[in-house]
Amino acid sequence: MEPQQRSPLLEVKGNIELKRPLAKAASRLPLSGRRLKRGPDQMEEALEPEKKRTRGLGTRVTTTHPRAAALNSAPQTQGQTAVPRAPRKSAPRCSMAIAPVLKTQKPGPVVPAQKPGTTAAPPMVGGKKPKRPAWDLKGQLCDLNAELKCYRERKQVLDQENQQLQDQLREAKQQASVLGAERRTLEEELTRVRAQAEQGQRELGNLSARVLELEERLGTQEGLVQELQQEQLRLQEERRGLAAQLGEQERRLQTSEASLLDSQAEVASLRQEAAAREAVLAEREDRLHGLEMERRRLHNQLQELKGNIRVFCRVRPVLPGESTPSPGFLQFPSGPCGPSDPPTRLSLSRSDERRGTLSGAPAAPTRHDFSFDRVFPPGSGQDEVFEEISMLVQSALDGYPVCIFAYGQTGSGKTFTMEGGPGGDPRLEGLIPRALRHLFSVAQELRGQGWTYSFVASYVEIYNETVRDLLATGARKGQGGECEIRRAGPGSEELTVTNARYVPVSCEREVEALLHLARQNRAVARTAQNERSSRSHSVFQLQISGEHAGRGLQCAAPLSLVDLAGSERLDPGLALGPGERERLRETQAINSSLSTLGLVIMALSNKESHVPYRNSKLTYLLQNSLGGSAKMLMFVNISPLEENVSESLNSLRFASKVNQCVIGTAQANKK
Ligand code: ADP
Ligand code: MG
Repeated sequence: MEPQQRSPLLEVKGNIELKRPLAKAASRLPLSGRRLKRGPDQMEEALEPEKKRTRGLGTRVTTTHPRAAALNSAPQTQGQTAVPRAPRKSAPRCSMAIAPVLKTQKPGPVVPAQKPGTTAAPPMVGGKKPKRPAWDLKGQLCDLNAELKCYRERKQVLDQENQQLQDQLREAKQQASVLGAERRTLEEELTRVRAQAEQGQRELGNLSARVLELEERLGTQEGLVQELQQEQLRLQEERRGLAAQLGEQERRLQTSEASLLDSQAEVASLRQEAAAREAVLAEREDRLHGLEMERRRLHNQLQELKGNIRVFCRVRPVLPGESTPSPGFLQFPSGPCGPSDPPTRLSLSRSDERRGTLSGAPAAPTRHDFSFDRVFPPGSGQDEVFEEISMLVQSALDGYPVCIFAYGQTGSGKTFTMEGGPGGDPRLEGLIPRALRHLFSVAQELRGQGWTYSFVASYVEIYNETVRDLLATGARKGQGGECEIRRAGPGSEELTVTNARYVPVSCEREVEALLHLARQNRAVARTAQNERSSRSHSVFQLQISGEHAGRGLQCAAPLSLVDLAGSERLDPGLALGPGERERLRETQAINSSLSTLGLVIMALSNKESHVPYRNSKLTYLLQNSLGGSAKMLMFVNISPLEENVSESLNSLRFASKVNQCVIGTAQANKK
């Protein structure tokens, strides 16, 4: 045996193989373990009843002992399964010896006993041992001895066998104890193996769970990998697309670069061309500027030749409802060049009723001739009138102060001339809106030559030697706190009206709004007894400032458009009621200011050292627009009615005086 090399299970199997023949052998034994332990005497005792029965029966030997049969049949039945055993020397002999004995035990016919003294064995009848006769005691004894001997031999054999069996038993017990020990070892081993198996099972379980988890993760990872692969495919596709785009862009870039080079070359040549043009342009600009300055100079010269003080006479048409004057009352003789020449003369015929002839016939009307720079008969339109003064507006832009008056009795058409007719008809627009529109448009044209202009408007009225703002809004509207005329600053030539609004304007609409506001303010101030607007001077002033930044040139001049108060005088013969007294006061104030205006113009004309500007608010306010470099235009407005002839003559005489004045040589206010 090689216990170290064989597994315990194989050892067990080997032992079981060994044990099986032993067990079989034991089972074939007729004796139990208890009986096996008996000694030879006990064996003999055991055999005794059979002897006794045999003896007792005398002739009949029977045995129920299965041993004989077992022993007989053993070689035949156990031939295949029996394991070779230690040779039993006595067994075959014993069985052969026993066989005849057993055969004799079978029941058979009772044989008469042999007679005593007979020793020979009875003859065999039919192969069977003949029964000794009853008397053959010796023979029987002999048989019994032989039988006893046989039993003894058999006992001996059995003892030996017993001994062997006991040896085998001992051996088997030893084997059993060894096997028990082995079994325990194996059981322990089994327990350990089971524990290991359980542990393994647990680990297997854990591992299975882990495997499941890993499989799950693997599944997720695989999904992820698939997604990534798809993403990769998409990106590859995109990359291919981008690469194609890039290629396209590169091609375009190359084309663009080529065209850029062409363009750069073109730009370079264009720049050269532009530089050349710029040089030409600068030269032309210089020339243009020189021409502009020359134009200004010539324009001014022309204006001066026309006279720095000019007087235009305008006769308004007869209005509906008014009595038509007698023919020849007003005449407009043609100029030296005939009817195509603009009229400059006016003749007024006056029939003096006080001067009668001695015969009592009415005296021939006295004819009064007047000559002015221009005379506008009743049919003259607003545009015609403006055309004549547009040159003066140009002078204002060139930097010369310009002042335009409308002088005449109330109702002679002063306001119509300055502001325009009623109803907002553009054809009836007066000098103020037309002059401003002209200024804005010329300023726009001059912008192209580098001049920028700004305009600030103010509109005040002087009533009874008080100044009131016609552009007042809100609470001051119509009421207006008193305004004062002050110098803009210490040592400044510029004058400003305190509390008056100075509104920057840049378009016609703004000017229209201002004129509308002024009309509203005048309407609020109107009273039942007094048409105040005709009893006050309205002064619209526009401060014009121009700048040529490129050449550092500046010019500034005021344009003043004055609608004077009615020049009519009160009839001194009229009885003075309270209303008339007030009217007289107004009239005195008006007359005073108008005569001051005349005196100022005369003083300027005579180049007197003192010019009485301060004698009236009007001349004080307008002092910068009169004299010196200023250009003055006076409209003398005449009523076409015969009933107004006296006032018309007064106006015409005043205007004639003014017309005779020549104020210095106008100088542009250039800085
Ligand atoms: P003033 O201001 O001198 O008092 P207005 O300008 O108010 O006079 O004129 C008095 C009236 O005569 C107004 O109804 C005016 O419309 C009208 N009028 C004045 N001049 C003309 C003219 N040239 N053409 C038509 N109507 C005129
Ligand atoms: Mg008026």
